[in-house]
Amino acid sequence: ESEQAHARAQEPAVTTTGIRIRVGANVSSLADAERGAEEGAEGSGIVRSEILFSAATTAPTADEQAEVYTRIGQALNGPITLRTWDPADDKPLPFLPHDPVTNPALGERGIRVMRRAPEVFREQLRAILLTASRTPVRLMLPMVTTVDEVVWARGLVDELRAEIDAPHVPIGMMVEVPGAAIRAADFAGVVDFVSIGTNDLTQYTQAADRGNPAVCDLARQDSPAILDLVAWTCKALPGIPVAVCGDLASDPTATARLIGFGVSELSVRPPIVAEIKQAVRVS
Ligand code: PEP
Ligand code: MG
Repeated sequence: ESEQAHARAQEPAVTTTGIRIRVGANVSSLADAERGAEEGAEGSGIVRSEILFSAATTAPTADEQAEVYTRIGQALNGPITLRTWDPADDKPLPFLPHDPVTNPALGERGIRVMRRAPEVFREQLRAILLTASRTPVRLMLPMVTTVDEVVWARGLVDELRAEIDAPHVPIGMMVEVPGAAIRAADFAGVVDFVSIGTNDLTQYTQAADRGNPAVCDLARQDSPAILDLVAWTCKALPGIPVAVCGDLASDPTATARLIGFGVSELSVRPPIVAEIKQAVRVS
């Protein structure tokens, strides 16, 4: 089967009932993009920008970022979903220092940090707009909890559009905070797409640290509560594309269920793209 998956890696993934599912690669480096392309990735459903620049001691300029993002886009056949900075305890950004707190996973990370450092955020948004004129991009916001956060970010993008002439960039959010999943319908008017981050969604829903082996059984991403939230999110957002980019998307035993819920795009670990495409074909 894995031989067949490889022979068909570059073909589209279509279910037995004729639904076309886009399968992208999760990218944290140029090498990930290149590997994903070999395995047949159709773009990327998540580019983890904070990992690309995890060694930067000063904030990279828009031009510096755009160069890196463009190279990634050009390595892949399809749009890249640039996730804005998601600094967290397990992936800090040295140029955005933070004070130690008792519960970092529940503190300032993702878009929460951007509200405190809007200039850093603006520079990244500029970079994303610059990249858009060179390669197809989408913009994705991490750790969104309230509609207000998306409206704020959209406002900044609109402002920057007055300075930078760029093609249309779809704006979406990660659904990885349980409150945002439960109230997914509230976001219908402010996002062009959503992508479910099952790594964090599981950690927060199951109250089980994603990096702590002692609770790894509780943190299974195919737990009924997580599958329910994926189904709920799809139901709450008719007409809006729902992707999954957390690790659950890289589990071929979950593929048919995710598609059954209405998920239309999967973004997976680069080496497993061809295998997930094959799992789509038998779904
Ligand atoms: C997730 O939370 O599922 C996700 C894709 O983002 P990250 O793993 O980078 O937090
Ligand atoms: Mg996450």
